Amino acid sequence: MCGIVAYVGERTAYPILIKGLQRLEYRGYDSAGIALANGGIRVYKCKGRVKDLQALARDKEVGGSIGMGHTRWATHGEPSDANAHPHASERGIFHVVHNGIIENHAHLRRELVRRGYTFRSETDTEVLANLIEDTYLEQNVSAELAVRLALTRVVGAYGLVILCDREPGKLLAARKGSPLVIGVGEGEYFLASDAMPIIEYTDRVIYMNDEEVAVITPSALDLKDLYNDVKTPEIKTIKLSIANADKGEFPHFMLKEIHEQPFSVTDTFRGRVAADGDKIVLGGILDVMPRLVEARRVIIVACGTSWHAALVGEYLLEEYARVPVEVEYASEFRYRDPIVGEGDLVIAISQSGETADTLAAIRRVKGTGATCLGICNVAGSSISRETEAGVYTRAGIEIGVASTKAFTSQITVLAMMAFLLGSKRRVLDAAEYRALVSELTRVPEMIATVLEQEGRIKEIAELYKESPNALFLGRGILFPVALEGALKLKEISYIHAEGYPAAEMKHGPIALVDERMPVFAIATSDKLYDKTAGNIQEVKARGGKVIAIATRGNEEIRGLADQVIEIPPCHVALSPLLAVVPLQLFAYHVAVARGCNVDQPRNLAKSVTVE
Ligand code: GLU
Repeated sequence: MCGIVAYVGERTAYPILIKGLQRLEYRGYDSAGIALANGGIRVYKCKGRVKDLQALARDKEVGGSIGMGHTRWATHGEPSDANAHPHASERGIFHVVHNGIIENHAHLRRELVRRGYTFRSETDTEVLANLIEDTYLEQNVSAELAVRLALTRVVGAYGLVILCDREPGKLLAARKGSPLVIGVGEGEYFLASDAMPIIEYTDRVIYMNDEEVAVITPSALDLKDLYNDVKTPEIKTIKLSIANADKGEFPHFMLKEIHEQPFSVTDTFRGRVAADGDKIVLGGILDVMPRLVEARRVIIVACGTSWHAALVGEYLLEEYARVPVEVEYASEFRYRDPIVGEGDLVIAISQSGETADTLAAIRRVKGTGATCLGICNVAGSSISRETEAGVYTRAGIEIGVASTKAFTSQITVLAMMAFLLGSKRRVLDAAEYRALVSELTRVPEMIATVLEQEGRIKEIAELYKESPNALFLGRGILFPVALEGALKLKEISYIHAEGYPAAEMKHGPIALVDERMPVFAIATSDKLYDKTAGNIQEVKARGGKVIAIATRGNEEIRGLADQVIEIPPCHVALSPLLAVVPLQLFAYHVAVARGCNVDQPRNLAKSVTVE
């Protein structure tokens, strides 16, 4: 959450910071601010978006070739000008931007107040600025040492960039729990929460590790841990295209990303599935394959949309690899005392690879003997680095806060894993394995045919845009898709929606059904179709409006449902990849029709790096 960008070099920092903040705005957008060092430190910050910050800085002095910026996702203190970052210390010696939460902020604040410090904001971050200043003055040490000493007293998570007025010409940065990437240029460095603001300047990056502190000037980068041990920065080359970071012809990133799914799913299996469809090779898990094949149990930890993908994974791995699977909310798992050990396979799923709870969940498992895998979209992210092995989803940069293409790529990876393990565990014979793999390669063209129905889905969205509630029903492997359909609608249109296993409806939610309640029924032609059709009848009998997602060629459903959206006939194992697409489009068009900010829905942010 929150975006940090910083620059030190020869160029004017301001335009680089503004552009960087625009690229990071999907991470948080409560408020925005910058600090520029140019013979003193100048701060501009305000509640609102980056464009509000630009308006504020118009006609102001924005020179200087060192600076830092922040877009906030408030955790402590409401979005306001005062709570916006950067935060200055009492005497203005230090300015900080911060991503994360300082858990012992109240205790530190009381202590600093006793020592005469005053506070101008309600944030936990301001404590850091004052704690560093107090250490600097009290112990009469360098800015770097003050930062390191102060941070040893801090409990919580931080990605931090710091400017010291008394040591001009340098940036200080530190990380624990929240991501920070350093971009290495020629006589210049960039710093950011993710690589997005950096990729147009350099493809050489360093991912900072926890408890590392960097001191950066235009010509040098010194990296140490909090305890003064020198670290050798590991420079990696990243391959991210800037084209992905623009909306192109689409009005919103979310719509662009929905339409990218035929390509993102292809990219996810490209080079991993043999052309003749007879095998799958997942290079990232080859080394641990014997342990995967022998696994006695799989536990998948995730949050939000990734958790829904995990539920689809449960069906896939149990059905096609015959291995027992448990799916856990990472936030719950991390605080329980889970029984995990040798023979268990723990899979962490996270688009950003930085989700705080999911990261903590895999740390919880370390040392238990379980094998830990990551399924992440962002190469080099914390989860991908902290797991033994894993598979990247290769969906490309996802900017829409409501995840779409990452979800289908996660399912694609889980399907490949399930089919591969199914074959290795001799659950699938050669013919079944080949049939599933070759069906997977047809998914992109099938998604494309679903996308062709966008006009019809938009009409349906118009019909239901005023509904205060909606229900999404599915069974079997499509039940998680019902959950995901409901989540998408909630996230971006603020309509209350619930996803349910179709048969469970009778145990409560059916009481909500009346003529104002749209009910999405995912009723594809599989072995559970007749059961779902029965559930549709139950809704109709109570006056509910039914929108069915059905398999092309099913004429009967037209007599049952008020509206029908067709998906092509496809193997049930892969049907979630098709069935979710109309639900994404429906949520999108309802939100647009209601005038909602689709790419930046209220209260949300991409990449949840706080717990
Ligand atoms: N905890 C800090 C605040 O509320 C930082 C939040 C963020 O990561 O944007 O200001």
